[in-house]
Amino acid sequence: MKIRLASPLTIDSIVDGPGLRTVIWAQGCNHKCKGCHNPSTHDFSGGFKVDVKDIIDEIKKLKLQRGITLSGGEPFEQPDPLIKICKEAKKLGLDIWAYSGYTFEQLIDTKNPRYFKWKSLLENIDTLVDGKFIESKKSLLLKFRGSSNQRIIDVQKSLKLKKAVLHLEYIENMDIAK
Ligand code: SF4
Repeated sequence: MKIRLASPLTIDSIVDGPGLRTVIWAQGCNHKCKGCHNPSTHDFSGGFKVDVKDIIDEIKKLKLQRGITLSGGEPFEQPDPLIKICKEAKKLGLDIWAYSGYTFEQLIDTKNPRYFKWKSLLENIDTLVDGKFIESKKSLLLKFRGSSNQRIIDVQKSLKLKKAVLHLEYIENMDIAK
C-alpha cells in the first residue's frame, strides 16, 4: 500500500504537538483556506508516493520521540495508509496527533460516505486539531494551532460522547473557540 506525501517525514518537530514528534505530511487538500501556509500540498497528484512499509520502518527507528503527527495537506483524504501507520505507531507506544481542515463534527457525520474510514482513522488518533485555517483568526500566540477557530480535541473521549471534548491538558493554551 502506498501513501502520497508532500515531503519527507520531519523527524524532529517541537511545534506540531507536545514533545518531540515525527510529522507525516500528507499530499492533497481540497479545503482552499485563504492564506494557507502550504499551497504546494493541495494538488492530489503532487508530491510523491511512498510505500507505507517504508514509513513504518522509519517510525520503528525513532528513539526519543513522544509521538507522530499527521499533517499536510489533508490527512483524512488518505485514511487507509494512515490507519496502517497509526496502528504500528500505537504498538510502539507513540501518541498520535492529527491536523484536519474538517471539523470533528464533519468527520463523525454518519451520512458522509467516508464515515467508516474516517471513524477507523479517528479510533487510532489521540488528539485532533480540527477545522480550516481562517486568516482573520490567525494568531502567532496560539500554541499548536494556526487560527483560534481550531480546537484541540481529545479524540477518544469525543468518540465515546459523540461530541467534541476539548483536550484539558492543553486548555491553558487555548482561547475560547469562536
Ligand atoms: S486545510 Fe491546511 S493545507 Fe489545506 S488549505 Fe487549509 S491550511 Fe492549507
